[in-house]
Amino acid sequence: MSTRIPAKGFAIHSKDGKFEKFNFTRHPLGEKDLLIEIEFCGICHSDIHAAYSEWGEAIYPMVPGHEIAGIVKEVGFKVNKFRVGDKVGVGCFVNSCKVCEACTSDQEQLCANNKVVFTYDCLDYFHDNEPHMGGYSDKIVVDEDYVIKVPQDAPLEKIAPLLCAGITTYSPLKFSKIKEDSRVGIAGFGGLGHMALKYALAMGAEVSVFARSEAKREQALSMGAKHYYTTPEDAKPWSLDLIISTIPTNYKLLDYVKLLAYNGELAIVGIPPKEVMPSISAIELIKQGNRKVYGSLIGGIKETQEMMDFSILHNIYPQIQLIEGKDIDQAYYNLTHANAPFRYVIDMKKSLGA
Ligand code: NDP
Ligand code: ZN
Ligand code: ZN
Repeated sequence: MSTRIPAKGFAIHSKDGKFEKFNFTRHPLGEKDLLIEIEFCGICHSDIHAAYSEWGEAIYPMVPGHEIAGIVKEVGFKVNKFRVGDKVGVGCFVNSCKVCEACTSDQEQLCANNKVVFTYDCLDYFHDNEPHMGGYSDKIVVDEDYVIKVPQDAPLEKIAPLLCAGITTYSPLKFSKIKEDSRVGIAGFGGLGHMALKYALAMGAEVSVFARSEAKREQALSMGAKHYYTTPEDAKPWSLDLIISTIPTNYKLLDYVKLLAYNGELAIVGIPPKEVMPSISAIELIKQGNRKVYGSLIGGIKETQEMMDFSILHNIYPQIQLIEGKDIDQAYYNLTHANAPFRYVIDMKKSLGA
C-alpha cells in the first residue's frame, strides 16, 4: 500500500517547450483514495495559459489536464462512495483543507486556508508538497471526496469537458439565478462559451453570443442562440440580465457592462494572460451605476455533481474532437489561432496504450 504508483503521460518542460511522453509516479493509494484509470482528458484553455507560463512562472515539468474521465481501478480501505469499475470524473482540484468556511460550505475551490490542490501546476500540500500532475496521463490517485459520479452508460469522452467547461459555466448561471426568459449574453464562444449557451437555454433563457468573427454564426444559431454579434457595440445597451465572459485574451470589460440591464450582472470567468489582463476603472463602473461585476472560479464538488446530473438529465454534452497525445502541440496552436473545434479531448488509452 505504501509504494508509489508508476504513471505515464505527456509533459511540457518549459514555457517554450513541446509535449513529450513522460514517466513519473503518483503518491501511494491512501485509505480514502481512488486509483482511476484515465480514459479521456479535455484540453481547456487554462492548460495553455499555464503550460506557457502566461499567468506567471509555472511549475515544470508539467502534465496539464483537469477535464478527466475514467474508471475506478482500486479503492482505499475506507472508501465508501465508489466501487471498482465505477465511471468517474475529476476536475480542476483534487484536495483542500476540508475545515475552513469555504470548504465546509461546498466552495472547496475557494479554500480559505489556501490549501486547495489544483490538479496541475500546484503543490500537493497533503503529500509532502510534491507538484501535482494532471490528466494528460494514464492514471490518477484522488481522495474520493473530490471525485464526481458518472452513470455507467455515459459517454466518457463527452463527460470529460464537463469537469471544467461544464461546471465553470453552469455555476454563474445558477449564482445569478437564471430562469425562464432571462436574457443571457455569452462572450467568447469556444469550449466554455458553447457549454454556457447550452445550459442557459436549458434554464429557459434567451441567449446572445458575442464572438470575434463570423466563423461560428451558423453553429451558434443552430444550437439555439437568438443573436450573434462580432462586436459588443452592435448589441443593444441595457438589454442583458447576465453576461458570462469566457474571453481568454485582452478586451474592454466596460463594453460588456454597458449591455447590462439595470441590476444586471457580468460574470468574468475567462483569465487572459497576465500582461494583457483587462481591468475596469472605478469611475467608469460608477457611471454604469447598479450593474454588478463578479468573478467566478469553477465550482465546488457538490455543485459539480449537480451540474453532472443536470447535464445527463438534459442530454447536454460538448461538441468534441478526439485527438491523441502527439497532437497536443498542434491543438494548442489551433486554439490560439482561431482555428479550433469547440473542445479537443485526448484519448489517453489510445495515446499511451492500455
Ligand atoms: P477556448 O479557446 O475554447 O475559447 C475561447 C473563445 O473566446 C474562442 O472561441 C475565441 O474565439 C474567443 N475569443 C477570443 N478573444 C475574443 C474576443 N476579444 N471577443 C470575443 N471572443 C473572443 O477557451 P476556453 O473556453 O477553454 O477557456 C476560456 C477562458 O476561460 C480561458 O481564459 C480559461 O483560462 C478560462 N477558464 C476559467 C475558469 C474559471 O474557473 N474561471 C475555468 C476554465 C477556464 P476564436 O474561436 O475566434 O478563437
Ligand atoms: Zn479548465
Ligand atoms: Zn479549506
